[in-house]
Amino acid sequence: MAIDPQFDDNREQVDTHKGHDVWGPVDEPEKLGIHGTHVAVDFDICIADGACVEDCPVDVFEWVDTPDHPESELKADPANESQCIDCMLCVDVCPVDAIDVDAGRAGD
Ligand code: SF4
Repeated sequence: MAIDPQFDDNREQVDTHKGHDVWGPVDEPEKLGIHGTHVAVDFDICIADGACVEDCPVDVFEWVDTPDHPESELKADPANESQCIDCMLCVDVCPVDAIDVDAGRAGD
């Protein structure tokens, strides 16, 4: 299952984390929701593959620890989403389609 590209219509913003929005539902540690708005990562899909972290030309992503999450205990957090230049590399390389980038969606 890929990230829902309409998450901002279909989910509620329930929190903020390092300056970006978090979209629920969130029920830690098993359910973590979507982090970010312009660059959105579905933490419940992310398997910590790391291609986005390595390939992003402007270092949007930072690892965060997510102990006891069923998919992976690290997640690629779009901590610097305002730096995104919409190259779409991260969307293309993510093996589980956990990332959605939309230039029309305002981020932090
Ligand atoms: S679209 Fe490009 S610049 Fe934006 S987060 Fe993804 S890899 Fe980085």
